[in-house]
Amino acid sequence: MRAGFPDFRLGTVLATSFTATLTERCGDPVERIPTPQRLVDWLAVSGLAVETCTAAQLGLARELRESIHAVATAAALQDALPAAAVQVLNDRSVQGRAAAVLTPEGHRRWQLGSASSVEDALGVIAADAIGIVAGERDGKLALCASPTCRAAFFDTSQSRTRKWCDMNTCGNRQKKARFHANQRKKP
Ligand SMILES: [Zn+2]
Repeated sequence: MRAGFPDFRLGTVLATSFTATLTERCGDPVERIPTPQRLVDWLAVSGLAVETCTAAQLGLARELRESIHAVATAAALQDALPAAAVQVLNDRSVQGRAAAVLTPEGHRRWQLGSASSVEDALGVIAADAIGIVAGERDGKLALCASPTCRAAFFDTSQSRTRKWCDMNTCGNRQKKARFHANQRKKP
């Protein structure tokens, strides 16, 4: 990872890994794609490598990210989906050109329409989010129990009782907070 920038929180679900490029939305937010190059870096580690990214494309990416966050949050709460955010997901999905290709090893890989097209990569992310919200995949959208986070995440645990977007960060912090609270209670 590049020095001086916050590292990435990568999960197994593309759409919510993408929304996790902004964390602590309800506390002190941490922007993990502060520059176009950091979006290029994130796309590369997420299997959507592009060669370049402009400031305008970074703007589109952040707009999509916050729209996915809004739609996924509404879905987790079983609220009506926000129309403007749904429109952004649909626009990005329609305008992206990417194809799924199968590798000789039997893995899916994304082939983008052109090497410089961030829009194509965003189309793949938008389609991933649409699939999750539409209930096409095995799992359930939920909100992180951390009050400073409240990230929407996709719970694929057997029991569907996962509480935190990320065990290593939010989960750990909550556990530590509880531990210290218990310590203080002791005489
Ligand atoms: Zn969280």
